[in-house]
Amino acid sequence: MAMTSPFRLDDEVALVTGGGTGLGLAIARCMAASGARVVITGRREDVLKRAAEDLGPAADYVVHDVTQSGQAVPLVTAVEQRHGPVTVLVNNAGINLKRPAVETTEEEFLEILRTNVLGAHSLVRAAAPGMTERGRGSILFIASMASLFGIPGVVAYSAAKSGLLGMVRTLATELSPVGVRVNAIAPGWIETAMSRRAMEGDPERERKILGRTPMARFGTPEDIGWAAVYLSSDAARFLTGVTLPVDGGASIGF
Ligand code: NDP
Repeated sequence: MAMTSPFRLDDEVALVTGGGTGLGLAIARCMAASGARVVITGRREDVLKRAAEDLGPAADYVVHDVTQSGQAVPLVTAVEQRHGPVTVLVNNAGINLKRPAVETTEEEFLEILRTNVLGAHSLVRAAAPGMTERGRGSILFIASMASLFGIPGVVAYSAAKSGLLGMVRTLATELSPVGVRVNAIAPGWIETAMSRRAMEGDPERERKILGRTPMARFGTPEDIGWAAVYLSSDAARFLTGVTLPVDGGASIGF
């Protein structure tokens, strides 16, 4: 019997936070190439506008700051009025802070949590009820190697990204019985503006990263994009509550 490939996102509407740059933009690009309508968000309109033009006719953008949690429902409502139900949510927006643990202030810590954790949760609150009502949907979180092992100098980021994995497990138990899958990608070291900044003036860190990565290279944003397509597609229809490292082996390397 002839089969059709399930590695597609035709008829899906994907909302990608932080989709104007880096990994979010690559996720949006790969999802659009797989047939999805894609809406990207972020705080900078000029960046989003350029990215949406680059993505082509399947893409749209809305300016949205994930720390403004009261704006999450209006965002989802606006997207659904224009494009139909949001069936794929990618919680990608994130910020990092490189600072020794004992020098990290409570306010700095909270800022990282507000963006990476509470911002993601506000969008789950806004988008998940529609998904559960319709009995299908995919929610993805972009975690980190800092979710999996100790990395010096990123205490707040590690706490935030590790927290996401707990959220994924809990959400999977709450939402998957009615057909909404919840998963995470833990990217290894990928070439983006954020990782370049984290590496700046720290050649030893770069050597260490490549030394423990069996594939001995940094990843490309599209390496994450295609994994996001897979996890959001019917090809992954029995996967929920998992964290997929996409890291060239960094998390198992010695
Ligand atoms: P970028 O800095 O390029 O992307 C971060 C994106 O998030 C930007 O588009 C930014 O847009 C958006 N953003 C930040 N704060 C907010 C906010 N308050 N509200 C809405 N959008 C926001 O970095 P990356 O692409 O590298 O990072 C993307 C995700 O991947 C992050 O969660 C990061 O932690 C994670 N990650 C990255 C890795 C890497 O190697 N690059 C490795 C592991 C994880 P704007 O400023 O316009 O709001």
